Amino acid sequence: MTELRRVVIVGGGIAGWTVATSLRDGGYDGEIVLVEREPACYDRPPLSKTALIDDAPLDALAFADPVATAGLRLDVRCGRSAVRLDAPQRAVVLDDGTRLAADAVVLSTGGRAREGTFPGAQLPGVLTLRTYADVVAARALRGRTIAVVGGGLIGAEAAAAFRLAGSPVVLIDPNAVPGSRVFGPTMAAHLHGMHVANGVDVRTDTVAAVTEDRGRLRVTLTHGAPVTVDGVLVGTGIRLDTALAADGGVEVSDGIVVDADGRTSVPGIFAAGDVTRRRMPVGLAASRGHWDAARRDGLAVAAAILGRPAEPAGADWFWSDRYGHHVEVVGDMSASGAEIVRPGQHPTVFRIDGGMLRAAASVDDPMSVRAARRLIERGVAVEADLLADPAIPLRSLLQKTASAVSPS
Ligand SMILES: Cc1cc2nc3c(=O)[nH]c(=O)nc-3n(C[C@H](O)[C@H](O)[C@H](O)COP(=O)(O)OP(=O)(O)OC[C@H]3O[C@@H](n4cnc5c(N)ncnc54)[C@H](O)[C@@H]3O)c2cc1C
Repeated sequence: MTELRRVVIVGGGIAGWTVATSLRDGGYDGEIVLVEREPACYDRPPLSKTALIDDAPLDALAFADPVATAGLRLDVRCGRSAVRLDAPQRAVVLDDGTRLAADAVVLSTGGRAREGTFPGAQLPGVLTLRTYADVVAARALRGRTIAVVGGGLIGAEAAAAFRLAGSPVVLIDPNAVPGSRVFGPTMAAHLHGMHVANGVDVRTDTVAAVTEDRGRLRVTLTHGAPVTVDGVLVGTGIRLDTALAADGGVEVSDGIVVDADGRTSVPGIFAAGDVTRRRMPVGLAASRGHWDAARRDGLAVAAAILGRPAEPAGADWFWSDRYGHHVEVVGDMSASGAEIVRPGQHPTVFRIDGGMLRAAASVDDPMSVRAARRLIERGVAVEADLLADPAIPLRSLLQKTASAVSPS
């Protein structure tokens, strides 16, 4: 570790920021240069939640203020893009011509919002939501009629935020139940039902075209009647920012290919966060696209640079907020096996396979997800009947397990 003098990190989202701060926390004393093309290093989840509803300034979303950044001795270069990676030399060239040679380079470049593929997707008023500038543009539509294209995580949250801001909302998605892959079919259906309950005009359809219509936008659908709106928000996923890596000769396959510690195909070049795909015993995992996964990638990369073992990875976890409800998921709700539903005001849904808990999803019940996480991570056997019974606290399943295995 002591021979490392400089680490260069490209991308100041949660993954890159976590690498930088974890290196310092881990005692790394050398130079840390963090290059970020946006005006600040900030957090993205609030963009489709509070920051869309209120007028939070960029500073409020930033990971740290200038004093804290200086305290961490981070050389943060905001408003600068890395335009070339010289991988064999472990060097990055910035858009002002600066060449930054380093002992380790971290690519945490994330992705950009996928734009609509329909005619009219480039019209003013057709927006996406990935950056602070995007949220500023979207705020102008609060209270006005909006079509949200895509009922996935960001589309669903944006639809809820616009409803809260008084907008009539039309939500368009080709799937009758969007989000089944991440939430499982039962929870996805429950969550999708919240849109109708909150007055959203839900259309199972696709956008054929958007055209200007006397100062407004006319959205023509493939099957149903057209809608006229003041703005269109496209939430159909992201395109990963892999160009820097690919052009620099780093292995890319719909994402920068990494091992569990974030090592790429080129020694000394690491990658973390949304932009990565992890090499598995068979094939490559999908890019996970969640905040906590990106953060944990950052921890693993910092540990690898410091030459230390990474923390155990644990089960994947993410959250989503909509209509005043807080949803959490732990594990993989699309894993093999069956769904077990614990009824309640909101269902808690489990995925079990071979008597083992693989995943759980809950609404306004983070404690259940926390207990489920422990059950998953400890690999304890579960009984479907007990999971389905709302009278049985999940924590008690852990206690039973603990007493079953404990010699006392
Ligand atoms: C609106 C929204 C809401 C979300 N809500 C949730 C949620 O509720 N729960 C959840 O778990 N996840 C949520 N996510 C996902 C989560 O925010 C992402 O998984 C996380 O931001 C990924 O972090 P990252 O650092 O890998 O990538 P990013 O956040 O994309 O950061 C990458 C950074 O790299 C910079 N960059 C790229 N290329 C260059 C270059 N060449 N030079 C300089 N800088 C560069 C970009 O400007 C960007 O700031 C949400 C995402 C969005 C957009």
